[in-house]
Amino acid sequence: MMKVTLQSLLTGALVLLASCSQVTDLATPHKDQSPKCEVHGRVMAPEIIRVEGESVYINGYPATAKKSFPHHGGVVLNGERYRRFEFGGRVRDFVCADCDQAHDAWWKEWKARRQ
Ligand SMILES: [Zn+2]
Repeated sequence: MMKVTLQSLLTGALVLLASCSQVTDLATPHKDQSPKCEVHGRVMAPEIIRVEGESVYINGYPATAKKSFPHHGGVVLNGERYRRFEFGGRVRDFVCADCDQAHDAWWKEWKARRQ
């Protein structure tokens, strides 16, 4: 039978905390390239983005996100970018200010339509 000690519990808690705060860094490998948004032509800057939920549950959102605001910051939903991320995780990626504006406007309109 496995003996559970205080030390093993603390180690497990620390490992869990470390994995929760882990950031997938997509920006650092490209930091010398000053990437531009392919939609807006604007030079982007790295930001931390939270990963929450699935985009497939919002009708039309994944296609619109890819076409109109592929590099927004704030919160990203799985399925709207070229790869999936750990749910509840964080991603450090390049963000375009114009994509941010378009993203915010889309959500504002979406929320208004639902009222
Ligand atoms: Zn953009």
